Amino acid sequence: MLLKDKIEKHLLEVQKPSRYIGGEVGSVIKDESKVDVRFAFCFPDTYDIGMSHLGMKILYSLTNQRENYWCERCYAPSEDFEAVMRENDIPLYALESLDPIKDFDFIGFTMQYELSYTNVLNMLDLAGIPIFSADRGDELTQIVVAGGPCVCNPEPLADFFDIFILGEGEEVNLELMDLYRKMKQQGATRTEFLEKACQIQGIYVPRFYKYSYGEDGIISKVEPTNGAPAIVKKRIIKDMDKVFYPDNFVVPFTEIVHDRVSVEVLRGCIRGCRFCQAGFIYRPFREKSTDTIFREAKSLCENTGYDEVSLASLSTSDHSDIDPMLTKLIDYTANEKINLSLPSLRMDNFSEALLEKIKKVRKSGLTFAAEGGTQRLRDVINKNVSEDEIMNTCRIAFEGGYSTVKLYFMMGLPTETDEDIVGIADLANRIVDLYYSIDTVRKAGECRCLSVWLHSCRSRSRRFSLNPRIHVK
Ligand code: SF4
Repeated sequence: MLLKDKIEKHLLEVQKPSRYIGGEVGSVIKDESKVDVRFAFCFPDTYDIGMSHLGMKILYSLTNQRENYWCERCYAPSEDFEAVMRENDIPLYALESLDPIKDFDFIGFTMQYELSYTNVLNMLDLAGIPIFSADRGDELTQIVVAGGPCVCNPEPLADFFDIFILGEGEEVNLELMDLYRKMKQQGATRTEFLEKACQIQGIYVPRFYKYSYGEDGIISKVEPTNGAPAIVKKRIIKDMDKVFYPDNFVVPFTEIVHDRVSVEVLRGCIRGCRFCQAGFIYRPFREKSTDTIFREAKSLCENTGYDEVSLASLSTSDHSDIDPMLTKLIDYTANEKINLSLPSLRMDNFSEALLEKIKKVRKSGLTFAAEGGTQRLRDVINKNVSEDEIMNTCRIAFEGGYSTVKLYFMMGLPTETDEDIVGIADLANRIVDLYYSIDTVRKAGECRCLSVWLHSCRSRSRRFSLNPRIHVK
């Protein structure tokens, strides 16, 4: 029985079968006989989560622009479909062709969070690909690569991957595929290909490094072999206005976590909060011009038919052209009846002018990240937000007509004491008092709540009440 028929036969036995069939609007189908290199882009989590990942959308479209390269998508099946696959000998397959990914030239994983590591191994096992890199032989096929933020510390996964791609993938992915195509035509072996590949900036081939350990079990020496560089430098895109950005997304049949158009407005962050991995690994700060952002938002909305667009970045309100950019986007989205969604905002650059813009698109509450309950702790984590700035931001929001403000705090930060935890409640109380002290609020006689979200580094986020007027989540 053909693999396609086997899949079809069991689809109605599982939840959300549309996760497993491909064929969505915007997905790319190619004539296999004209394709030189096939890339299975794997997200080590379910379709609903992976389909929301912006990096995958960018690299999928970028690779498929090349006529002779075909990038297909592959996601981790959920438990029910995995059981069906194992029972019926259905190997892990790519959604565009429904071909097993073990027949692909590259099997590429994006590593977004550590909890997905075991899913990678399970997906390799489901695909019938040897889990350990050393067991994959010397034939030039099935190159298992990884990229994404977790790759800034690749060693826990070093035995399983042939290649790690450090930094941003828009340029280096195609350079790697070009080299592969050339060497495949020359009949090269896997080792010969990897030796050449590690000369490309951003490519780390873990098998080419020898480690020596001291008696204490700590690494004492790292020696590169096979001509690999001693230091591998990450790749960085220099000009955000020139870098490729898709003008179309795959539009899913089923609901996904972020079911909308996403436009990246900047990369990196001008802040340096000490707890923030993203703030460090996406350096340096680079932004797109308002014209580029507008053009990309418009073409994506037109091509996908989505009625919501969100601005993706680490800190959108730090964009140097934020006011004109929002004005242009709000004019367009309001006209086209498209919803513009904005992420959480910084507390130290929130102005009345920005509030006026936001009021046009956001009817619900405002969300700010204060992170620490006391000035001492905010200084320790380098949050650079003073209490005056927090109170001033809340005052602007309340005077501007908002009666709900959501504040994020973290618990379990290094050096934290009980005083810092109590400080969250004290700060929240002062904000509630500020709310009731504002003339317009008193006259309207309104009574609304302040939400405080606590994120713990040591346990799950919790919700509890410190004051009957405040909801703490
Ligand atoms: S402002 Fe946000 S993104 Fe930037 S470093 Fe701080 S926590 Fe990270």
